[in-house]
Amino acid sequence: MNTAQQPPRWVHEFHPSQTETPPPDPHLLGGKGASLVEMNALGLPVPPGFILTTDACIAWHENGGAPPPELAAQVGAAWERLEAHLRAQGRICLVSVRGSARDSFPGMMETILNLGLNDENVEELARLSGERRFAYDAYRRFVEMYGDGVMGVERRHFEEAVERRKERRELELDADLSAEDFRAIARAGQEAIREHAGAEFPQEREAQLWGAIAAAFRACAGEQARDFCRTHALVDEGELVDEAGGVALPVAVCVQAMVFGNVGSEGDKDSEGSATGRFFSRDPNSGEKHLRGQFLRNAQGDDMTASLRAPAPLCRGTEAGLGQSLEESMPRAFAALRQAADTLERRYGDMVAVAFTIERGKVWLLEAAPGRRAPRAAVKIAVDMVDEGYSSATKALLTIAPTSLQHLLHPSLDPEAEYEVLARGLAASPGAVSGAIVFRPEDAENLELQGHRVILVRRETKPEDIRGMQAAVGVVTTRGGITSHAAVIARGMGRPCVCGARKLRIDEKSEALYAGKHRLERGAVITIDGGSGEVILGKVARTQPEFSESLTRLMEWADKHRRMRVRANADTVGDAKTALEFGAEGIGLCRTEHMFLDEERILAVWQMILTRSSHARQEVLERLLPMQRADLEELFALMAGCPVTVRLLDPPLHEFLPRREEDQKRMAEASGVGLENVRRRIAELRESNPILGHRGCRLGITYPEIYEMQARAIFEAAAAAQDKGGAPVALEIMIPLVALKRELEVLKARILAVAERVRAETGKELPCKIGVMIELPRAALRAGEIAASADFFSFGTNDLTQTVFGISRDDALGFLGAYARGGILDQDPFVTIDQKGVGELIRLAVMRGRAERGDISLGICGEHGGDPSSIAFCEELGLEYVSCSPYRAPIARLAAAQAALRGSSPREESR
Ligand code: PEP
Ligand code: MG
Repeated sequence: MNTAQQPPRWVHEFHPSQTETPPPDPHLLGGKGASLVEMNALGLPVPPGFILTTDACIAWHENGGAPPPELAAQVGAAWERLEAHLRAQGRICLVSVRGSARDSFPGMMETILNLGLNDENVEELARLSGERRFAYDAYRRFVEMYGDGVMGVERRHFEEAVERRKERRELELDADLSAEDFRAIARAGQEAIREHAGAEFPQEREAQLWGAIAAAFRACAGEQARDFCRTHALVDEGELVDEAGGVALPVAVCVQAMVFGNVGSEGDKDSEGSATGRFFSRDPNSGEKHLRGQFLRNAQGDDMTASLRAPAPLCRGTEAGLGQSLEESMPRAFAALRQAADTLERRYGDMVAVAFTIERGKVWLLEAAPGRRAPRAAVKIAVDMVDEGYSSATKALLTIAPTSLQHLLHPSLDPEAEYEVLARGLAASPGAVSGAIVFRPEDAENLELQGHRVILVRRETKPEDIRGMQAAVGVVTTRGGITSHAAVIARGMGRPCVCGARKLRIDEKSEALYAGKHRLERGAVITIDGGSGEVILGKVARTQPEFSESLTRLMEWADKHRRMRVRANADTVGDAKTALEFGAEGIGLCRTEHMFLDEERILAVWQMILTRSSHARQEVLERLLPMQRADLEELFALMAGCPVTVRLLDPPLHEFLPRREEDQKRMAEASGVGLENVRRRIAELRESNPILGHRGCRLGITYPEIYEMQARAIFEAAAAAQDKGGAPVALEIMIPLVALKRELEVLKARILAVAERVRAETGKELPCKIGVMIELPRAALRAGEIAASADFFSFGTNDLTQTVFGISRDDALGFLGAYARGGILDQDPFVTIDQKGVGELIRLAVMRGRAERGDISLGICGEHGGDPSSIAFCEELGLEYVSCSPYRAPIARLAAAQAALRGSSPREESR
């Protein structure tokens, strides 16, 4: 607690003599600040400085947007000490000011460099550095950054000042400017501030510093920060400090001594020179262990983002054609960076992204953060870190986002395919994808809602484009490097992305893309390969990927740590093979109706439904029986020794009716009843709400012979599979859409009677569990009495969500998007279990089912069975297994392991 005697510690200093500190807290110092303190403590070369904590930010807001006296005193003292330290080294106290949040958010204040300069001490900087041109360049940059970031003057006014100067001096656009030019531009910048901000550019360094600090603190109460909080649900974690006080996401502020990557250009023979850059300690695309990044000679950090000069690669041979690498041109600095990268990896047990400056040959580190990486690289890095002794298997399992695995299972371009490359850019995020080009993020969103696959093509992307990027299947930019916004974000999202495709030209007005002789209009189809950086004309065939060795190892660890079993929803032998390849341990849902949809069988199925006579239906079913039996026999042989849950016919009848005229004629001919009769019968069977109509076990009740045929096919197939000598499957027959215990009792008796007959005929024991899908609210509520007759429950959360919400599964898209955008629903309940509503019913059913029957087997087979946070919920309920689509089995395996490791504590919703 804060007392008058002990004022809160709002400022943390870091300098080379301070290498012993408790582990820095990113909540207090922000990610950037924590990394500075950490690197300093590790003895890495970090320019000294101090950090105003997030608590200081809150105090500043609580004090009405001004520093409380203790904060002003602490900042003043820290600055004095920093100045003394720098003066002792013959430097002026110039600083950078950066916002440092735990998670950076859109609208954060941009970095301000060279703060502390003014009309007078710029001359001193010129004298001390021996470079007037450098000093005035530094000053005009500061004026621009301060004017834009703190005083709200648009950048273009400063850019115009540069252009005017060049025009006056009749210089080429890319001509080098002199010290005098920069001096005039700095002056013009101050005039622009006067004109557009209606205030003077401050010459006093205290005013400059507090101006920058205030801008950083203000940003975290801005609209963009609020939106970010809401969309990332940070409010749930107590981040929204005080609606009234206005702090959405408290931010720390790092004030750090300047080092210059643009000094020493005027002949400095002893050092390797100056530069600035960023790198990843491993390749963020492949995960290979070599530094990957870019640098610019004689530049400050803002030159990296301005894209005026093309940066060169850090390592030899990583990006051909982009100039001499740092490894070749500044070998000593490169070696120091590599060593620092090793130290940081050892410390964090992870790959890091590092920002650095080289001042006259001396390397300085400005930030280290966990580097964003492509999913493939993430898996390789996590596994390699364990092998190299930097991390543990448990940590590796917890660091991989389960859904990111789906991108490892993504297709790449067919190596046999021929195609025309329109342009080459940087391979920013792997995966190959085709889609129609759009140039505006909002078009991407709208078209995606209409079911189109689009590729978003932009000069560069900005934080506000994220929703459009999410909606697109791929992203292309014409500017920007491997660390640009587009690259970093697309990689994190697992979207294929090509960056910096400089040969492409976008004409925004006419919405066209120019590539050599081609002019492509909005909607034209292209293919991108984010693994090679190619942008290709038209659609190209793709091939399926394979499991990497690293992924196999990670999956083995996951299997060791998870409690729940993972089954797959597989209806065919092909699906089941994929499921086994992806590590599923059984089939949790085999939808038998999918076996009926075969072209050859459909006629018999139409007859089965349309005939009124039970005798005629019986005849048709006899034709269907061997087909269904053969399918199941093959499936059981493949799944030998594993559990297989076969669900009896479920879908609404209308899905099986002949809709097209020619099909109706075919049907009429085959059954000899005449077209008119067929049409009349189809009309009779039409339902207003088929999904709530004559489906599921209701079919089994009204047409007993259908379920009887299916039961016979299942038991005969099991018997035949036994004959072939394989281990028997653990057979389960599942009855869909049960609401009443009597439905189950009636159907179970019929199934058991069929089992008895087949047993008598074959002389084989055919053990089988009979259970139900819990997919209607009534079944969940009456789970106790249903459990009395059920060997198992499988939660059909697709229908359960539909019926609990009263939202049609098929028609929800139209409004769920608006609900999400309006913040009415945080998640699509068809993707992630709505724990408060649907989950409550599941919890109740589990409780009542277990109370009636302690050994009841419980699982889930709705789509949610492949969704990580729903899987965590299943772990919490102690379900035996989750069942999901075969491709999601690896995701479920990892998510189940994470849920077990975390002891599963699903987050409560705020709404
Ligand atoms: C369900 O409703 O969750 C389910 C798995 O069944 P279906 O999707 O076939 O209705
Ligand atoms: Mg269902």
